[in-house]
Amino acid sequence: MFDDPRAELAGIARDLRTYLETQQALGLDRLGVSWPAGEPAAQPAGPTLPAVREELGECTRCKLHRQRTQIVFGVGNPKASLVFVGEAPGADEDAQGEPFVGRAGQLLTKIIEAMGMKREDVYICNIIKCRPPNNRTPEADEILACQPFLLKQLQAIGPKFICALGAPAAQTLLQTKEPISRLRGKFVDFHGIPLLPTFHPAYLLRNPSEKKTVWEDMKLLLRHMGQAGGS
Ligand code: URA
Repeated sequence: MFDDPRAELAGIARDLRTYLETQQALGLDRLGVSWPAGEPAAQPAGPTLPAVREELGECTRCKLHRQRTQIVFGVGNPKASLVFVGEAPGADEDAQGEPFVGRAGQLLTKIIEAMGMKREDVYICNIIKCRPPNNRTPEADEILACQPFLLKQLQAIGPKFICALGAPAAQTLLQTKEPISRLRGKFVDFHGIPLLPTFHPAYLLRNPSEKKTVWEDMKLLLRHMGQAGGS
């Protein structure tokens, strides 16, 4: 249909940037980046993960690029049925270039293994790809700048299930300000993909008594995955 698909894609990217800048200028800190209309849920759509990574490039779209060691894009099975989405890289992730490798990450790995899977079976990423200074909470402009890439990542994988870890991930994906204590443990539709918010593993390190709550959420997730025909 198009003579030059790369030029077409570049045009779309330019339009998207203009749209995002307009939203920012309007003072909106959240927006719905549209999922391709009519795309069937839970099937790979749009670009591949390497193409999304290439488009991200050595990103300077927000201020976080100044202090990062490297971009922490995501890791795992590019065709995973289950994607975990966390908040942001911390010091260990910034150093190693892989999400969830520090203490919280080790707990996430244990949770995944307790679910009968390995890290390599699932895909793990964050709503923002660069470490915020002193591990502070991501700011709206940073989330906004990264959001198109998160959505394209999810489109490229086409998971059957998404698990949002903690408030920033759940609130960003679901475009809500509802607290995580209210969101967790209930599936919500995310463009046709069942999304389950739960507490972040770092929260569990500070509040070990909530581990059982997360385990209940993971059992619920496993039941749904079983019903959907395996992991
Ligand atoms: N916390 C996150 O949300 N993501 C990571 O990658 C590490 C810790």
